[in-house]
Amino acid sequence: MAATKTPFSKKELTDLRKQLLTEREELSRQAAGIEESSFGNPQSELSGDLSSFDEEYADAATETFEREKDLSITNNIRDLTDQIDRAIERIDEGNYGLCERCGRPIEKARIKALPYATLCIKDKQAEERTG
Ligand SMILES: [Zn+2]
Repeated sequence: MAATKTPFSKKELTDLRKQLLTEREELSRQAAGIEESSFGNPQSELSGDLSSFDEEYADAATETFEREKDLSITNNIRDLTDQIDRAIERIDEGNYGLCERCGRPIEKARIKALPYATLCIKDKQAEERTG
């Protein structure tokens, strides 16, 4: 299986690498924006003045909800960033575009839509069926 080479030309790989890096930068910009807006000064509003505790508690509950929402977005961003990193690694190793499960080349249309895909369509569908 290791003998199979990437189905992409050097030029295609260079372009894909650029595309992946751009996408990665975009993601880290998004992540930085979220962190700035919601993790600015964690818990400071709970530790200070107790006289308006109830009010602050209600605020904090809303904020917790917002944070959890942001957190799942942040997790998604982290997941995607990991996938992009792995794709870039695979480009450098020369096995980019090969399915991690069956080792066959991933459909080019799929790579165009999802440059960090690691599974071919068939294996991706199989994975989704089994959950
Ligand atoms: Zn496959």
